[in-house]
Amino acid sequence: MAEYVIETAKGKWEVVCGLEIHCQIISKSKMYSGASTEFGADANEHVSFVDAGMPGMLPTLNMECVHQAVKTGLGLNAKINKYSEFARKNYFYADLPQGYQITQFKFPIVGEGKVSVDLSDGTTKDIGIERMHIEQDAGKSLHDIAPDKTFIDLNRAGVGLMEIVTKPDFRSPEEAGAFLKKLRSILRYLGTCDGNMDEGSMRCDVNVSVRPYGSDELRTRCEMKNVNSMKFVMQAIENEAKRHIEVYENGGKIEQETRQFDPVSGQTKVMRKKEFAHDYRYFPEPDLLPLQLDDAYIEKVRSEMVELPDAKKARFVKELGLTPYDAMVICENKETAAFFEKAAEGRDAKKVANWLMGDFFAMLNEKKLELKDSPVSAENLGKLVDLISKDVINGKTAKDVFIMMADTGKSPEAIVEEKGLKQVTDTGAIEALVDEVIASSPENVAAYQGGKAGLFGWFVGQVLKKSQGKANPGIVNKLLKEKLG
Ligand code: MN
Repeated sequence: MAEYVIETAKGKWEVVCGLEIHCQIISKSKMYSGASTEFGADANEHVSFVDAGMPGMLPTLNMECVHQAVKTGLGLNAKINKYSEFARKNYFYADLPQGYQITQFKFPIVGEGKVSVDLSDGTTKDIGIERMHIEQDAGKSLHDIAPDKTFIDLNRAGVGLMEIVTKPDFRSPEEAGAFLKKLRSILRYLGTCDGNMDEGSMRCDVNVSVRPYGSDELRTRCEMKNVNSMKFVMQAIENEAKRHIEVYENGGKIEQETRQFDPVSGQTKVMRKKEFAHDYRYFPEPDLLPLQLDDAYIEKVRSEMVELPDAKKARFVKELGLTPYDAMVICENKETAAFFEKAAEGRDAKKVANWLMGDFFAMLNEKKLELKDSPVSAENLGKLVDLISKDVINGKTAKDVFIMMADTGKSPEAIVEEKGLKQVTDTGAIEALVDEVIASSPENVAAYQGGKAGLFGWFVGQVLKKSQGKANPGIVNKLLKEKLG
């Protein structure tokens, strides 16, 4: 990977960045109550007395959330802590009716792990996971209903979250973006979080500092809260790093502070300084017992794990002969990988991958369709590749057939039959066309034989045109070579 170095007139700098990502757990009910987590209900429709912080209400731990967290921990190649503890994080905010959040502090459910990220130059880099703990989400403040009032919707209050904290291993915006992409892919494969940053089900805090290039010191960092797209995370890192460098180069000092990323200007601005930092007065949660898991439980979850993107990618490279890049693109999304496997079954997988990543993706893009709504099924894409392999149609005709498949949803055989597109492989018929072309342009024949080798393609084109694109190009080439000498 090319190093990301920020060079100024005064020196060279490098970025040190770590991420904290809050991921909403997919579960039917909330973390500490039986209320539904369903999205899109009317405000305060899914609120139990526990979620509303009514006096005397006691939380009960939803074991489905624990199950999802253990699965995610295994997906992050992380240590599952058999002993973990819940803790109270005290703060006051209108969307937190209890006045505290039940989270984990000293003893998180998941310990150190690592995630391999795929970089644009084809290399990979391991990013360390520091820990992952589980906690409850807060409600939502709605500021856009009335100009002078704020409304509170507690439907989200108490929904389970996994907070994933990385080590400060990112050295460039690209690495952070690639990590988020990989994390989202793993979570979606596992079915533990839907990973939609724009809907807030995955929210990212970004910690940034800089240091002189080549040094190993760790300087004061600043944190940008709730950056809500991968693009903005990358922008925030770049611009915050540049701000630090400017301060240092002008003899200033960076204060530890929480900052806000403004998507419009791309800049960050201060939210609160360290001296105003929260004192959360953490203490062990008295209403929940420590969580104790045994090996049998962890092994059972492990046995339910699906094949994750890295393993799938390695298998596609090793067993199906795909390039690492193609395998990475295809495996990023579980549905795409399944579609590919179905289309490639019993066929030349590389040819299927080329069609998938070329014409097929371009078609979805152009028609603004999701894979699941594709008019071309995996079976039909596979059959199209078969028709080419079996010389029923040539590559050029196949492109036209594909367009018709996308427009009609029909199978390639039906289209070839209907439109009479079968390739002409009858040597005698092609030879007649070759002879016609040669006879009709003696001046080009003379030029070619006189040394203008580039004219060969022109002859091929003329013969194909006469056959309405149906002549087998291999036979055309062979006959032309024989006849032109
Ligand atoms: Mn948190």
